[in-house]
Amino acid sequence: MTEVEFQEGSSSLHACSTMSVVIPVYNEEEVLPELTRRLRAILPTLGMEWDVLFVDDGSVDRSLEIVSSLARKDAHFRVVALSRNFGHQIAITAGLDHVDSDVTIIMDADLQDPPEVIADMLAKWREGFEMVYGKRISREGESWFKLATAKLFYKLLRRLSNFDIPVEAGDFRLLDRKVVEAIRQVRELHRFVRGLVSWVGFRQTSVLYQRRSRAAGQTKYPFFKMLVFAFDAITSFSVQPLRIASFLGLFVAFSGVVGIFGMLYLKVFTDRVVPGMASLFCTILFLGGTQLVFLGVLGEYLGRVYQESKNRPLYFIRETVNAPKKG
Ligand code: UDP
Ligand code: MG
Repeated sequence: MTEVEFQEGSSSLHACSTMSVVIPVYNEEEVLPELTRRLRAILPTLGMEWDVLFVDDGSVDRSLEIVSSLARKDAHFRVVALSRNFGHQIAITAGLDHVDSDVTIIMDADLQDPPEVIADMLAKWREGFEMVYGKRISREGESWFKLATAKLFYKLLRRLSNFDIPVEAGDFRLLDRKVVEAIRQVRELHRFVRGLVSWVGFRQTSVLYQRRSRAAGQTKYPFFKMLVFAFDAITSFSVQPLRIASFLGLFVAFSGVVGIFGMLYLKVFTDRVVPGMASLFCTILFLGGTQLVFLGVLGEYLGRVYQESKNRPLYFIRETVNAPKKG
């Protein structure tokens, strides 16, 4: 069979293939009506069987009620409700556990990722890519602080981890069934889904898009949550911070030795005296501070080892609508 014939064969296969859109939802009652309107306008035009899986991450507003009543009326919509708030990354994971389609799209509920981009992602999938991530060419309506810290974070992460995690790419992606099946096998608790998705490999590419501002509601990622998220990302993909401690320790010890010889020299060969208190004080503060920082770094890793070793389930499900398929 020639290349051309093969592609024709596979595209006719794609014509009747299935697509699931996984959307984590946490207190998003304001955006849900607009979100469903947009999804209903776009998904049927893509030439695939489609469904939308809302993962309610323990919302305390009317989100669950809204998505459940939608799902009861329209079988295209399905709901998995978690027993409490487990966090964005676990909610995505729960979603991936409950899809059974040729293609899965991960998308935020707040319409920052425009669903229209799914068409471009599908085009890449039809070309044979197994993972397509949305790459943000611009980000509207986010504070300079969020932009600056995000940039710093991605720089740091790329520097510290040994493989290519794409910058300016969030969790908005298309995953082929094979990728979803691979990710399902990774059951770590502290997970950084976009890192895992790069880590599993497969043929990956990107599509460019403009990240909009939130259609309604507030961000569910306050600064502290972002910080924990960043720690999770770095510790799950790199042990460099631990290594930095060793190198810094070596460097400080070496400087100490140079200092001792310097002072001995001054003492023996000159009559100059090295002033004591101030330099001593600074040294003690510096050493004490660095030791505490790296004790903290060690603690971050140790804490995660402890939590992972308990091997608890990642989430619990309270209720579902439209009998989701458990993968
Ligand atoms: N989200 C979630 N659980 C959480 C926090 C957020 O499921 O604990 C969902 C939220 O409803 C949204 C997505 O994750 O669909 C991204 O959250 P958000 O838009 O607040 O993050 P940002 O875009 O500001 O980084
Ligand atoms: Mg958002």
